[in-house]
Amino acid sequence: QAKKRSDTCFEVYHPWFLSDLQEAAAAERALREAVRNEEIEPYYQPLVELENGRIAGCEALARWFKADGTQIPPSTFIPQAEKLGLIDELFESLLRRACRDAKNWDDRVTLSFNLSATQLDNPALAYRVASILDETGLRPSRLELEITESTFVQNTEVALDAIAELKALGVRIALDDFGTGYSSLSQLASLKIDRVKIDRSFVMQCMADERSMSVVQAIVSLSRTLKLATTAEGIEQNDQYLEMHKVGCDIGQGFLFSKALSSDAFEEWLQQVGEPDEDGNMLRIAS
Ligand code: C2E
Ligand code: MG
Ligand code: MG
Ligand code: MG
Repeated sequence: QAKKRSDTCFEVYHPWFLSDLQEAAAAERALREAVRNEEIEPYYQPLVELENGRIAGCEALARWFKADGTQIPPSTFIPQAEKLGLIDELFESLLRRACRDAKNWDDRVTLSFNLSATQLDNPALAYRVASILDETGLRPSRLELEITESTFVQNTEVALDAIAELKALGVRIALDDFGTGYSSLSQLASLKIDRVKIDRSFVMQCMADERSMSVVQAIVSLSRTLKLATTAEGIEQNDQYLEMHKVGCDIGQGFLFSKALSSDAFEEWLQQVGEPDEDGNMLRIAS
C-alpha cells in the first residue's frame, strides 16, 4: 500500500506528467490571449426557409484559426472559456462584431447567436446585450439567442428571469439541439421561447428510421400548436431537405445550403442568392 502511494507521488514529478501540465497552462494562456486579441471570430451559417428557399438569417459560429494555420474547434475552446471565466468577454466581443456585420446585410436577415448556460447566471446579461444592440444599431428583433435545455437543469429560476429580461428587449429565444439530453416536451409549453431547433441527430436518423420521423413529426406539430417556429439542423442531403419540409419545419440549416462562412464570404453568398427568381425564391435547390 505504502509502495503504491509512493509510486503515485513519483508520478507527479514524472517529466511526462509535468509536460501535460505545462501544455494545459500554455493552452489556457493561448485562449486568454486569443480572447483578448479578438483572434476568435464569428462565422455565419445560412438559415433557409424550406418553403421557398429564401434566406432567413444565419447562425454565428465561433471560429478560432491560430497563427500557425491550425484550427481549434468550438467544442474544445467554448467549454474551456466557460471554465476559465472568459465566456462573457468572448461572447460580447463576438456579438459586437456580428451585429456590426449584420448591419451590412439585407435588413430582413436575422442573426442567431449561441449562449452558454453559465451566461444566464450573469445578472448583467440582458443589460450587456442591450448596450451592444444600442451601440451597433441592430434592431433587437433581428437577434435570436440560442439556449440549450441543459441551461435549465441547474439554476432554473435565474435562467428563466434572464430569458424574460432578454425577451423584454425584443430579442427572440430559440431552444437549441432539441431532443438531445434533458429534453422534455413539457418545457416547450412552459418556457417563453420562440423557436425549437431540432437536433441534427434526428434529421440524420429520419431517413433510415420511421420512428425517428414520428418523433420529429410530433415535435413539429406540438411546436405549431404552441405557435413556435421550428428549424431542422444538419440538413446535408436533398432528401432530408424535402422530408423536413414535408413534416412542416419552417427553416433548415446544414451543409446542403452552406457551411459557416467568414464575414466576407457570407456577404458574397448573400449577393449570389440575393436575386430572387420570378417566383420570388432566392435559393434554388433541386427537388
Ligand atoms: P450548435 O449551436 O448546435 O451549432 C451547429 C453546429 O452544427 C455547428 O458546429 C455547425 O458547423 C454544425 N453543422 C451545421 N450544419 C451541419 C451539417 O449539415 N452537418 C454537420 N455534420 N454539422 C453541421 P460548430 O461550429 O462546430 O459548433 C459546435 C457547437 O459549439 C455549437 O453547436 C454551439 O453549441 C457551440 N458554439 C459555437 N459557437 C459558439 C459561440 O459563439 N458561443 C457559444 N456559447 N457556443 C458556441
Ligand atoms: Mg446553435
Ligand atoms: Mg444547434
Ligand atoms: Mg446541434
